[in-house]
Amino acid sequence: MAILNNRLTAEQYEQNFSDIHPPFDSRDAALVEANRCLFCYDAPCTKSCPTSINIPRFIKQITTDNIKGSAYTILDANIMGAGCSKVCPVEKLCEGSCVYNFLDEPPIPIAKLQRYSTEKAIEHKWPLFQRKPSTGRKVAVVGAGPAGLSCAHALSREGVDVTIYEKENQGGGLMTYGIAAYKVTPECCKDEVSFITSLGGIDIKYKQALGQDVSLAELQNNYDAVYLGVGVGLARQLNIPGEELAGVEDAIQFIYDIREKGYPSVPVGDKVAVIGLGMTAIDAATQAKRLGAKDVTIVYRRTQAEMPSTEVELNLAKLDGCNLIWLASPKEIKGENGRVSQLICHVMELSVPDTSGRRAPVETGETITLNVDMVIKAAGQVPYEELVSTHQLANWNGKVAIDSRCATNIPGVFAGGDCVNGGKEVVDAVQAGKDGAKAILEFIMSEIGPPMRSE
Ligand code: SF4
Repeated sequence: MAILNNRLTAEQYEQNFSDIHPPFDSRDAALVEANRCLFCYDAPCTKSCPTSINIPRFIKQITTDNIKGSAYTILDANIMGAGCSKVCPVEKLCEGSCVYNFLDEPPIPIAKLQRYSTEKAIEHKWPLFQRKPSTGRKVAVVGAGPAGLSCAHALSREGVDVTIYEKENQGGGLMTYGIAAYKVTPECCKDEVSFITSLGGIDIKYKQALGQDVSLAELQNNYDAVYLGVGVGLARQLNIPGEELAGVEDAIQFIYDIREKGYPSVPVGDKVAVIGLGMTAIDAATQAKRLGAKDVTIVYRRTQAEMPSTEVELNLAKLDGCNLIWLASPKEIKGENGRVSQLICHVMELSVPDTSGRRAPVETGETITLNVDMVIKAAGQVPYEELVSTHQLANWNGKVAIDSRCATNIPGVFAGGDCVNGGKEVVDAVQAGKDGAKAILEFIMSEIGPPMRSE
């Protein structure tokens, strides 16, 4: 057993990491699907979209070949509509609510149609949005992820000059660094960020981490308001013996390395155990397999009924040949010569339901042993508690506390997205960014005074 990089040929890497949801292969194919839409007056699909995209409207626009109008409808509600069309768990959002599900027919492929319109907008760099003249007001946004970009775009449309401080060397946040490369390529993320900033009035300063390269006090002094969209990013530790052994990796770091360094450079074991069953765990497990691992086993302490990932994600892992062990919780990682060699797990069972109906996993006293050379930990992410506490931001275990107007306890400082909610979908962060922009505009108007038009 060994952890190696460069396991596959260039062609194999290309094939394993090619687009998992290919686009329509023709205009006719898109039209056939668009014309199936019933344009429901109460649009349950729209109601289940966190950004409230007017789905029947954009589909109707596709049927009349009004692709620019369709892209505007989508992007006006969700400026990251292109990326969301590839990473949204649509089976539990818009497509899961489509009335066709009740007619025992396949739902309208909303994500694919959304991709059809938005990719054209990005590819042809359509100038769909015009920026109002500069108001002279300035806002600092921390984090160029979905929340930060969405907030910046909404503010800039209103004539506010925005400077984004981003700790990485690319924008996109989770979309760029935290999602499997076969779902959305780094190039797509780059193009999406360029499309968003092409509006004007948004300057992104890269390699600028809050608390290291720039302080909150500096931002408060230099801007009319600050929006924090710093996300979450710290992997939850297992706190079991052997966690420090070589070959034990955080899923977030593993996925980040694949995005940042490229597939062949990232080492992977022969026999890999992945701990957890959220989207990050699935992304790590499937990518380990696609990098050439011979055997990948996902270990989850509950049953399928309680898993955080969707059925579609689970099937993806199964189709990639990943094994699953239900009701197993890591107890200890053993090693030889400083390298991981075994993962020992408690065998669990579910307790009787408590008053809320929840069944907790409890140890049975038995254990199972897996011979592995790599363990990938995907037991969730925790907020940047130290960063938040250092800046005296009111918080709940590191999650920034905000009021109904997205305001933190520090006047003029707003927040939203994963750093507030602890980690939800990209589309939730986009909506949080819109809410933040609305609140900041109200703050600027009421606390600072009406905008100063330059003309
Ligand atoms: Fe069209 Fe389905 Fe939405 Fe109805 S629920 S408007 S059929 S996509």
